[in-house]
Amino acid sequence: MFYDNGLRFECQRCLYCCSAEPGYVYLSKHDLERLARKFSLDEDEFISRYCRLVDFGTYFLVSLQERPDYDCIFLTPSGCMVYDARPLQCRTYPFWKNVMESGESWKQEAESCPGIGKGPVVPAREIRKRLKDGEEPPYIILKK
Ligand code: SF4
Ligand code: SF4
Repeated sequence: MFYDNGLRFECQRCLYCCSAEPGYVYLSKHDLERLARKFSLDEDEFISRYCRLVDFGTYFLVSLQERPDYDCIFLTPSGCMVYDARPLQCRTYPFWKNVMESGESWKQEAESCPGIGKGPVVPAREIRKRLKDGEEPPYIILKK
């Protein structure tokens, strides 16, 4: 693979991936448990305060809410207010399947993420681990 010798990545805290464009941060059961615990809420209460349901036809996925300017509901001027409990989707970025398809897709992602190509080399084994963690994450599926 093009990342067999590792890849340089270090978040520059530009916050672009938490804002700027419409997007979705889908939650797994484990993400929801962690976040609800952080706010001392039960899971239903957390969903109704901080999430939206995204319609996939026969079911819904649970995503974090966005503000009207597309900022994530948990974004503050100094960064993510739930950083320690941030969802898997946030933890595994930028080592997502679609980004890691080829050297070309990795370079393309660097156009919106200034952390790509910076900092220490992330070893291939760590990249594979993050890819695996993000593979078929057990997103919460709510039947209609
Ligand atoms: S876009 Fe990249 S550098 Fe900017 S906050 Fe997100 S991960 Fe960090
Ligand atoms: S949960 Fe935190 S890291 Fe994830 S998109 Fe929202 S602000 Fe960014």
